[in-house]
Amino acid sequence: MKVLKFGGTSVGSAQNIKRVIDILQKEALTSPIVCVVSAIGGITDKLLQAGELAKQKNEEYLTVFDTIKSIHFKAIEELAPNAESILTDVEAKFNDLKQLLNGIYLINELSPKTSDKLVSFGELLSSFIIAKTMEKMGINAVLKNSQELIITNSNFTKAEVNYEVTNKNITDYFNKANQQITILPGFVSKSQLGETTTLGRGGSDFTAAIIAAALTVEQLEIWTDVSGMYTTNPKLVKQAYPIANLSYQEAMELSHFGAKVLYPPTVQPVLDLAIPIHIKNTLQPEATGTIISNQNNGSNLTVKGISHIDNVALLTLEGSGMVGIPGFSKRLFETIANEKINIIFITQASSEHSICFGIDESNAEQAEQAINSTFENEISLHKINPITVEKGLSIIALIGDNMKSHQGISGKLFSTLGKNNINVRAIAQGASEKNISAVINASDVKKALNSVHERFFEVNTKQLNVFITGIGNVGEKLIDQIQQQHSFLKKNLKLDVKIVGMANSRKMIFNPKGIDLNNWAAQFHHADPSSIEGFYQKVIELNLRNSIFVDITANHDVSKVYENYLKQSVAVVACNKIACSGSYAEYKNLQDLSLKYNAPFLYETNVGAGLPIINTLNNLVASGDKVISIQAVLSGSLNFVFNNFSDKKNFHDTVKQAQFEGYTEPDPRIDLSGIDVARKILILARENGVPMEIEDIVNESFLTKANLESDSVDDFYETLIADEAHFQKLYASAKANNCQLKYVAEYKNGKAKVGLQEVPEGHPFYNLKGKDNIVMFYTQRYPEQPLIVKGAGAGADVTASGLFADIIRIGNK
Ligand code: ADP
Ligand code: ASP
Ligand code: MG
Repeated sequence: MKVLKFGGTSVGSAQNIKRVIDILQKEALTSPIVCVVSAIGGITDKLLQAGELAKQKNEEYLTVFDTIKSIHFKAIEELAPNAESILTDVEAKFNDLKQLLNGIYLINELSPKTSDKLVSFGELLSSFIIAKTMEKMGINAVLKNSQELIITNSNFTKAEVNYEVTNKNITDYFNKANQQITILPGFVSKSQLGETTTLGRGGSDFTAAIIAAALTVEQLEIWTDVSGMYTTNPKLVKQAYPIANLSYQEAMELSHFGAKVLYPPTVQPVLDLAIPIHIKNTLQPEATGTIISNQNNGSNLTVKGISHIDNVALLTLEGSGMVGIPGFSKRLFETIANEKINIIFITQASSEHSICFGIDESNAEQAEQAINSTFENEISLHKINPITVEKGLSIIALIGDNMKSHQGISGKLFSTLGKNNINVRAIAQGASEKNISAVINASDVKKALNSVHERFFEVNTKQLNVFITGIGNVGEKLIDQIQQQHSFLKKNLKLDVKIVGMANSRKMIFNPKGIDLNNWAAQFHHADPSSIEGFYQKVIELNLRNSIFVDITANHDVSKVYENYLKQSVAVVACNKIACSGSYAEYKNLQDLSLKYNAPFLYETNVGAGLPIINTLNNLVASGDKVISIQAVLSGSLNFVFNNFSDKKNFHDTVKQAQFEGYTEPDPRIDLSGIDVARKILILARENGVPMEIEDIVNESFLTKANLESDSVDDFYETLIADEAHFQKLYASAKANNCQLKYVAEYKNGKAKVGLQEVPEGHPFYNLKGKDNIVMFYTQRYPEQPLIVKGAGAGADVTASGLFADIIRIGNK
């Protein structure tokens, strides 16, 4: 014999009921079947809603009643059209229901006892409709009301079963019965006094387990709307997958900690008899599902699942008067027990100075009052403080029988939560070590489940959620590169890089699942207006794991927000130089925040675009090398200008050409004045550990006073024409000395300078072409032959690839 239970969704529509009948017919070929059914999906909630409305004298209850009625009649119409006998009986049941609701309306009261009577209609109706449909189809099936079998105490809404009487009723009935299929309503029962009781929300699973145990059947099947018990709630974590095998203890822990797919008490009756529970999907009967049993299934997974409970309140009792005094916790927990409040979670600091426990939020006020009254005396003597209550919390729990024999699991859990800026309010680990629980803010649950799931179950891939601001030339290239490399990175580096947000100064778009990169430009067209603050708010609101903010602007206000991102543990990648070349205090603050909040802050592209200059310097310093000096050509624009300027081409035209070809900033003075180069050498000096300011950098400009004092770009160009002779003189001197003009940045002994130099033949700078950059690091390990980094130091493609490299570096951390 087998017991099968079908949940709310499984019997939620005529189409699904037909699937159930199919499954029953197939299974009945090999053994007699006991079939327990839930109410049609959502009906229990609707019945309670109608009851509440009626109690509040709100006539809307009639509308809810009508909805409940029409859901049932629609199902009957599709399953057994024109079946008069079914329709008449169901109509009679609805008359009873209406009368009951009317009674609640009239007396303004909905007691637990009446509530049980009310919700029992759900299962009584569904089981009746299914059994009668099968009968009409000529299938050998009978309906048996489980209220005649399952006897409980009068603890309404969650009654306790009297197993002695119940087991006898069940065996007596089934020993006599000889039909192949018996249909029973789940959830409902009767007290010894004959009153309707129920077994608690989700209790149809329990009904099935009680019958399975009483009859010692070979298997209990729980048919639901998912393909088993998943590694975590599949509604919250897309990557969750069904667990093939679980022990009874693991299943119990998972369900106690919120895996709704199995009602927690279900395991108890079948555990001692070692009856396996098979969780199956009605909508996908061919899927393997989950088997819960004693069998060791050879699975070597240490952590089997992650579950969570919402609506948790944390209560803390604290005070010096508690230390070393026996009986304190006894009184505390007795108080809670007397209030019939269930404790989900307890921790006590070993100093005994405080006890902290978690309960359902709805019981918080009741518990608070009761505890404060129990300890009234101690509170008035200031031996302890009044109890503190915090709401809006959730618990997440890692579950697995084998966790006890593995070190480092809690370390992994808490480091994952920490990296994602999820604040842990309290921790508990049972001595059995089958469960490690952490109390966190309810708003962090989705992020916590996703990141912890990724860490424990998706060892293979790590998702990076990228938010780009500044979609110009470089931004577009970066998007292209990420799109092109997506499958490579996933396959080879196990990184799943998703662009979740994009903004320019006008518009912004977001998609938490990742923006479709095949047509992002079109989406951008219809996007919302953007703002720096609005973009930040959205990143924080989405609260995704491994979030990375990428700044591809040259905007001062954008750089001001890095601080906020880092404080939320969002990594920052910037090609914007402003933050790192502003005041030292600002630069240092960002470095400190990055460390404190475990959020990388990378800006390789600040110097030499995609060239690995900062990274090389960081590695030298980190590995204990000492920098003696740095010599570098760091400006693609100045290089271009001095490579093209000669006695045959005037300086004004050369600069114009550089600007035209995109080698200079829109205001060429920023390049020609040497400011940009000064900022770069400043960053390198700081990376070398020297707290310098931009004013400390000696900048010997080759420009004339008139050039430097020009009021506008046009003005500036005018002065270049006027001062042509000055520039020709610079050229002539270099030529006479057989040198090339290069704009050089130097750092030595804590001092830095930038300026135009005549570089002799044979010097590594002499032949530098086009927009190339070069940096020579003279260090203790490279005293004579410097470590040289050289290559294209400007351009959208290489800058984008530098940003991309920073993103990947964060992924590999
Ligand atoms: P039924 O009506 O069949 O009893 P339930 O709604 O009670 O179904 O339980 C199934 C639901 O449990 C799933 O649809 C899923 O949303 C939720 N759930 C939560 N955690 C888990 C988990 N770890 N594995 C599977 N389902 C889960
Ligand atoms: N119908 C009841 C509920 O919704 C019992 C169940 O479905 O298991 O809680
Ligand atoms: Mg259920």
